[in-house]
Amino acid sequence: MENNEDHKWEDLCLQCGRCCFEKIENEDGTIFFTATPCRYLDVVSRECKVYERRFTINPDCIGLTPELVKSLTWLHDECGYRSHFGLKRRPTKKDAGPNGDNK
Ligand code: SF4
Repeated sequence: MENNEDHKWEDLCLQCGRCCFEKIENEDGTIFFTATPCRYLDVVSRECKVYERRFTINPDCIGLTPELVKSLTWLHDECGYRSHFGLKRRPTKKDAGPNGDNK
């Protein structure tokens, strides 16, 4: 059974569904989001169609915890969980300025 802390944590999610699209990481660590959604994502409502059973039905689904949110490099900056911690993506070579410094 979920408690109030679980609800407070999950309320941080903006339900944008962006984390539920396949991602590709290139050799310099840059993450590209594809247009391919998880098969269980309703792309119109952006809701998971199997939310209560998602970890059983899809072993690839990840339950976000504060520790994971702080360590994952592929959540976008506007994600409600990342925003909660004021996190920004780790700069990549692509983000580097003309002198190699990161903006
Ligand atoms: S990217 Fe973040 S805010 Fe958007 S659905 Fe995923 S967990 Fe929620």
